[in-house]
Amino acid sequence: MNPSTSFISHLHVGSGIRNVMDEEESGASTSDATDDEAVSIEPENKQNAEKSASSSTSKPRKKSPKRKPKTPVKRKVRLAHELSLKRRRIIRAAMDDHKAEHKDEWDRSAGVKTHTLMRKRIKPGTMRSFSIPLLETNLGESWNIPVTVINGSRPGPTVTISAGIHGDELTGPSACSHLLSSAMTDPGRSLDPQHVAGIIRILPIINIPGYRNMQRDFPDGRDLNREFPGRAKGSTTSRVAYRVWNDLIVGSDYIVDLHSAAKGRSNMPQVRTYLSDAHSNIIAKAFGIEVILDSKPPRGSLRRVAMENGIGVVTYEGGGADSLDQEAVQVAVNGVLNVLRTLHVIPGNPTRPKFRLLASGSSWLRASEGGLLDMYVEPSSVVQKGDVVAKITDPGTPGLAVDIVAPKDGLLICTATNPFVTAGNPVGHFLPLEKHLDLVLGQCDEESRFIVAGSEEEPVWREEDIDEISLEGEWSGGSVDAEWRTEWLGSNGNNGKEDEAADANELLTKSIKMPITPATPETVEATTTSKKGTKTAKPAAKTTTKATTKPATPKD
Ligand SMILES: [Zn+2]
Repeated sequence: MNPSTSFISHLHVGSGIRNVMDEEESGASTSDATDDEAVSIEPENKQNAEKSASSSTSKPRKKSPKRKPKTPVKRKVRLAHELSLKRRRIIRAAMDDHKAEHKDEWDRSAGVKTHTLMRKRIKPGTMRSFSIPLLETNLGESWNIPVTVINGSRPGPTVTISAGIHGDELTGPSACSHLLSSAMTDPGRSLDPQHVAGIIRILPIINIPGYRNMQRDFPDGRDLNREFPGRAKGSTTSRVAYRVWNDLIVGSDYIVDLHSAAKGRSNMPQVRTYLSDAHSNIIAKAFGIEVILDSKPPRGSLRRVAMENGIGVVTYEGGGADSLDQEAVQVAVNGVLNVLRTLHVIPGNPTRPKFRLLASGSSWLRASEGGLLDMYVEPSSVVQKGDVVAKITDPGTPGLAVDIVAPKDGLLICTATNPFVTAGNPVGHFLPLEKHLDLVLGQCDEESRFIVAGSEEEPVWREEDIDEISLEGEWSGGSVDAEWRTEWLGSNGNNGKEDEAADANELLTKSIKMPITPATPETVEATTTSKKGTKTAKPAAKTTTKATTKPATPKD
């Protein structure tokens, strides 16, 4: 590695950055370094690097002033680990090839058929949930997992959303349960099967035994995400991989695999993909968030095997194991919807980030000493060179403390949540920023935490919480529109009152259907007034939910 980039010290103790490409998929904290993907930071000049190492007087982390997000700019945020020119050329060539092939993969005008998955039939325009055993057994555990398939009413690609391959990672399972909520799948909602073109398979908890026991691996101690495509007569985990791959994944055109950090750390929302794979590139960018790590998937991972089989695939990372970071869940849900919109599987326009950070590598900040960690930063924190990232103390050595100091300006895409460290443990996963830090800071909150695109809006699955006022009552004397109108016109003549009548009608309809607000006395009053002269319905206003926001006007 690169000892010249030593950067720590408060009390004379130093530490180094290890420059490794992270693969969360690669496992627990003990094995986070995959040397085959090592990249190195090149200090602009060695003298500078040494100078900064020797003279590093640590200072408390600065809080940057709150800045409003800026309008899109042409300047580009520069990463230390930017894609090389060679890599960018390869990616461009792959995308050009993909454009050139431009085959119409899904004939949207063709008829749509009943879809069959593991002998379960799903009719066009419907959605079906069932369970599938991970092992074919007569005795003992067979581990049934939940599966939902939405078969659209028109043809289109097959997109699989997989989650819970690591049993203790809850971001994916939570995102899937929101995607499957009635707020999302009811008529007229984002995933209404009638509006879907193609097939959406949702596999919320693939490692069900791990999920039940809050463990990453399968009960035989193996990591499912290292066993794909699996073997029918292999180890337990290999058999499960075989079944998942052959029975649930094969036939997919795209996969979004949802993960979070392994135990003891937490990830900022990010996407990992191999950008020179055109299909993967498209959905990685479609996901609509800023950080995309360009990395070759590890052997045996779902991402690797999918890519080798021509399936566009991304891994999403957000939050940490054994916990639920609702922002990370929300970004996952938005990202899946963005991918589906981009592929025209569901209607609507995808949202896009203001800029993207395409990284070919990253750096781990490691503890130089053992002890207890006091983290000053969180995932998404933006730090500037010299900021203290964490402090290590050891109850066995009172009076001594060691600071871990940011060696460069950068973005923390992962930080430790486990306070116990021994020398060499990673405490942060770091994306050094070379230029235009201000663009990144411009999208930070007052704590210098980067605000990931899509993390701030009201969660889409909570749409059902919008206040709705229901007015209870009965319609007497026939249908609402016809009778109302007749009576109104009848009693008042037609002296230019038609519009008013229509308005009154509209108001009533709105009062019943619309998610407008108020059950304030004014509203009731207004409603009653506009009904003057009629003998029909006299609905009593009644709130079914909480608070009002603004009073409605009669002709709203
Ligand atoms: Zn994982």
